[in-house]
Amino acid sequence: MLFKFIINRRFLANFAPRKHQLLCYNKRMDHKKFMEIALKEAWQAFQEDEVPVGACLVKNGQIVSCGHNRREKLQDVTSHAEIETIRKASQELGTWRLENCILYVTLEPCPMCAGAIIQARIHKVYFGARDPKAGAAGSKINLFQPGLFNHTTEIEGGLLAEKCSQILKQYFKIKREQSGEVAELDEGARLEIE
Ligand SMILES: [Zn+2]
Repeated sequence: MLFKFIINRRFLANFAPRKHQLLCYNKRMDHKKFMEIALKEAWQAFQEDEVPVGACLVKNGQIVSCGHNRREKLQDVTSHAEIETIRKASQELGTWRLENCILYVTLEPCPMCAGAIIQARIHKVYFGARDPKAGAAGSKINLFQPGLFNHTTEIEGGLLAEKCSQILKQYFKIKREQSGEVAELDEGARLEIE
């Protein structure tokens, strides 16, 4: 009887998710959840007629700050989603050192934002869509190569990539229709959005 019970327990265990699988799954769900929040920020930028890129910064599973591109509104070239988010996080946490923080951003960071991310010592970045013309995480240049600078920020792309690129495609489609031509629309227009 006891033998039978052990066999059955072992047999059933094959069908139960193993603990580490469950943890990985949960973490993956969290990453998607935070990227969805970055996407909401991107939609906010869209409504403000800005190139729709959004970001959020997370520490210990908690959101510290969110931001979106506001370059046109502020007429400030540094107001990309990542910089806005980093600036707010530093104010919130009272430090420019954002170690142990994870940044979620809908578009591959440009060289300016990559510089700020590395300077802020952010632990890891997840981005959505690739930017073949200006991306500094391997598309145009890779500023995240391990050992290139004093601090190395880990980076992983392709999280909800389809959703993240769709919003950009939609934005530039409207812009093209408004201008009646394939306009030179700054950074974003050079994205692979056709
Ligand atoms: Zn940037």
